[in-house]
Amino acid sequence: MMDHPRNAFFQGRIVPFAEATVSVMNVTFNYGTGAFGGIRGYWNADEEQLFVFRVQDHFERLLQSGKILRMNITYTVEELAAILTDLLRTEGYRQNCYIRPLIYKSANEIGGGVRLHDIEDDLTIFALPSIRLHQQGGLHVCFSAWRRIDDNAIPARGKVTGAYVNSALIKSDAVLAGYDEALVLNNDGHVSEASVANLFIIRKGVAITAPVNANVLEGITRRTLIQLLREELNVEVVERDIDHTEVYLADEAFLCGTSAQVSPITRIEHRPIGDGQIGDITVQLRDLYLDVVSGRVEKYREWLMPVYTAEAIQRG
Ligand code: PMP
Repeated sequence: MMDHPRNAFFQGRIVPFAEATVSVMNVTFNYGTGAFGGIRGYWNADEEQLFVFRVQDHFERLLQSGKILRMNITYTVEELAAILTDLLRTEGYRQNCYIRPLIYKSANEIGGGVRLHDIEDDLTIFALPSIRLHQQGGLHVCFSAWRRIDDNAIPARGKVTGAYVNSALIKSDAVLAGYDEALVLNNDGHVSEASVANLFIIRKGVAITAPVNANVLEGITRRTLIQLLREELNVEVVERDIDHTEVYLADEAFLCGTSAQVSPITRIEHRPIGDGQIGDITVQLRDLYLDVVSGRVEKYREWLMPVYTAEAIQRG
């Protein structure tokens, strides 16, 4: 279970968490016209340091989602990272945490109609001290009866709050039918991703993932794993459309995302993936990813933002 944060960045400053509330008339609360991010902080006990993973990339994507929503967010990526550092130091987390930045239309005026223009925007950020992880074993997934949102309806590459109705429908119907998760087809009939995670399959030693124009969220973990597979594990990666039945024939499959990390899939509906065990490439990649995000691989330390100063670490 997650604990509550003690503070939040809200309306331009850090306030007690209970004060970070919006009105029932808030435009984003009513129409889903916000955008959010999900970022992880990893506690490295050896170095007594909290590392935030790929913070620039996450904030860049947040600002891009804001652009789609015609938001005027004046913070730069660097300023957002500084605000986050400040917030995390105030929380004083010495454990893994999950960070939620959210940009939203802050007006409380329903009379003006549903729109994106001529409404002020704001930013809030809060961080939870821990997050539920995917289960340890392999996931049992199904294909969803829902279709993934389409770029020409609700842009899938934006992390738009209202778009998560699609994810929630996909997830709940899968879980209530007894599965852990569902894969969802896009309107072309190709496999896009899961409810809140991207998909990779391995066929004959080649890793395959849907391209960025397959109505997937352009996942930062996805991008990370493409690089790690190619550069560290010497595995060829192909970004191309994935057919429905290719998943049945995959030797290995896994989901990935900030929250999912690398989550192996071992069963799809009534068929095992490969031999039904977690695959070798998946295991290697999962271990490597956890080393990278925790700061144990020198080459990729540039992806990590340390939260505490040297003096703070010494003080403990
Ligand atoms: N797809 C969707 C729909 C998501 O919500 C997420 C989680 N942000 C992902 C994929 C994975 O993206 P990332 O690796 O950037 O967390």
